[in-house]
Amino acid sequence: MTPINTFAGSPLDRAGDLRQDPAWLAEQEANPQARALVLWEGRPLLSDDGALVWLSLAHARDIAPDRDLFLGLDGEAPVFAVEIEGSADPAQGPLKGMGVFSDLRSAAAILPDGEAAMAGAAKSLFDWRRRHGFCAACGTESRTAAGGWKRKCPACGTEHFPRVDPVVIMLPVFNGGPEPLCLLGRQASWPQGRMSALAGFLEPGESIEEACAREVAEEAGLRVTRARYHSSQPWPFPSQLMIGLIAEVDSEEARPDQTELEAVAWLTRADARALLSGAHPVLAAPPPTAIAHQLIRAWVDGFPA
Ligand SMILES: [Zn+2]
Repeated sequence: MTPINTFAGSPLDRAGDLRQDPAWLAEQEANPQARALVLWEGRPLLSDDGALVWLSLAHARDIAPDRDLFLGLDGEAPVFAVEIEGSADPAQGPLKGMGVFSDLRSAAAILPDGEAAMAGAAKSLFDWRRRHGFCAACGTESRTAAGGWKRKCPACGTEHFPRVDPVVIMLPVFNGGPEPLCLLGRQASWPQGRMSALAGFLEPGESIEEACAREVAEEAGLRVTRARYHSSQPWPFPSQLMIGLIAEVDSEEARPDQTELEAVAWLTRADARALLSGAHPVLAAPPPTAIAHQLIRAWVDGFPA
């Protein structure tokens, strides 16, 4: 197996076939073991010790009626998520004393891997549901189905499925000099010194390799001669799938485009190792929760062999 990135690795059985059956779902909802994680404004409820707070499904439904989503089975136990609406912080209201709602990016750094994956999936689903309440074919308000994993239009029958938006994220590397180099870029809006891998959305009609080559050419003016897959990462902000690649390029004449990237830098493996450990004098790495960090780490460690 490739390394598991943050937001991957959910321990649940999604029960993708069974959740299509309303009678089976009703049984799961009635199961006294059914439990739910709680989100408010895309933020999971965390306990003081940095884990998800779990409510019984019945308790969660009292607070957030008709807002639940079936996440899957943990053994025999059904696992749900609920989303609380409204602008008032529920941790100061009905959930007072139970924890705090934490930004998911920050939460991901402290949550156990499986819990980050469950919270991320729930956030993506709730974001989709909020933005796709009406049928894209005829405009009628659609209804949730399959435990939240589908919406169906009561007027024209069209089924709508949650979006996953593929993004290529790549580390350009140059092997034609005295020692191997990798290229990092920086966007003007990032914190001072932060550098990261290059990235961009895949477009219709493009392969992963083509998107990788196009983005590297557009953003850094470099020609990719070979792209190698490393790993992928669900990124629930709101629903990207980050496809991580190492992209060999045939020149070190990089030119940042000044729209996406304001600067680029070539790093040796020693530079990149210092960057990852926080010891680089000028530059800062993306956080370990980001696949970009793992791509740099993989290259420092010799990937691809
Ligand atoms: Zn319709």
